[in-house]
Amino acid sequence: MLLNVLTYPNKFLRTKGKAVRNILDPIMQEFIDNLKETMLEKDGVGLAARQVGRDENIFVVNSGAAIMTFINPTILYKSLNKIEFEEGCLSVPKVYGMVKRSKTILIKYYDELGQSNIKKFNGLLSVVIQHENDHNKGILFIDKVIRYTDNEELIKDVKE
Ligand code: ZN
Repeated sequence: MLLNVLTYPNKFLRTKGKAVRNILDPIMQEFIDNLKETMLEKDGVGLAARQVGRDENIFVVNSGAAIMTFINPTILYKSLNKIEFEEGCLSVPKVYGMVKRSKTILIKYYDELGQSNIKKFNGLLSVVIQHENDHNKGILFIDKVIRYTDNEELIKDVKE
């Protein structure tokens, strides 16, 4: 089932998340499937629960090779070495801008099978994961933009 994606300046996007306690619950599993389906339908590289009106700390990422689910994630390490990428967000349509983030991260999370993982990510995947992890904290990429590359005026018109 496709989920409705909330867009800026919807206040719910600023909500801080809570931990998921029932990963294997069929209702939770269905929600995770819906989150993946919605990300793929909207051509997103990532989608967080907050963006579809849920307050759990979950996001999904499409690496191209696989769709990964991150539940109750904690970034354990961020490299001092930074990289700059142009970012966009399904919740901030049409707006793009450059953001500087750590090149490498180490992240602890549970997957949709309830297994605990600690993995290292580099480059673009590291950037996408940091962007999605920010959604869990109510942070949007527009909070971190160094310079806009497209449609900056759309943000100014609705600035909170
Ligand atoms: Zn986003």
